[in-house]
Amino acid sequence: MATTTAAPERALALHEARKKSMAPDVCPGPCNRTWRNDPQAVPPRYGTPTWCASCAALTGHCLREIPEMIAACHLEALHRTTPALERVSGTGSPTAPGETARSIAQDVIRGLLEIEDDTRGLRRLTPVDRAKAMREGTALSRAIQLLDTHLDWILQHHPATGDPAGPGQSVLAWHRQLVRYLRRDRHIEKYQAPCPRCDLIALVRYDGEDYIECLSCGTLLSRTEYAERARNCAQGAPERGA
Ligand SMILES: [Zn+2]
Ligand SMILES: [Zn+2]
Repeated sequence: MATTTAAPERALALHEARKKSMAPDVCPGPCNRTWRNDPQAVPPRYGTPTWCASCAALTGHCLREIPEMIAACHLEALHRTTPALERVSGTGSPTAPGETARSIAQDVIRGLLEIEDDTRGLRRLTPVDRAKAMREGTALSRAIQLLDTHLDWILQHHPATGDPAGPGQSVLAWHRQLVRYLRRDRHIEKYQAPCPRCDLIALVRYDGEDYIECLSCGTLLSRTEYAERARNCAQGAPERGA
């Protein structure tokens, strides 16, 4: 997002002139992932005029999901960070509990506000006074609303829309990052026996993990421990080993 306020009108005029002289672009969205990896394998899909309708719809959907995922990150930062979540950070160095969640949320919000300011500048909308104190949630909602309203223009006509780090690509990348961090991309297997520590039916196992985890209190069980727990519950044995 280099195009901010430096001569935005000139950049926009140049971009419009270039577009008029050209055929529709190959859609820069995820529909052409296979084509980008191997242009011989499949024909590219074209945009209308830049992004195709399905990638544009997907981007809108992802954009509107971001506030809820940011809230989930904040909850994660406030309460606990499970060992599995902290491993995803991949920094190699130990992080304070919740630090990863907080920094992901802040990076995404900062990026969205940048696109908002950029769009306001290019479309000659009233700029936001960033010096004025504003709650983070208010700023985020305002940015999402603005981006959603102008999404068609952003995807089809923003000077940087075709760039790998353009606004649409960034929204999709942030969404992917949040999905991965919150582990929403993984199949979850639910277990019927209640957690031995908090007694809630909240035991799950994520794809690729060996242990069974309580979503409520974070207790980890091996499969053998769970099997024993399930057997005890089925037999109506005392649940806390009392
Ligand atoms: Zn597409
Ligand atoms: Zn529990």
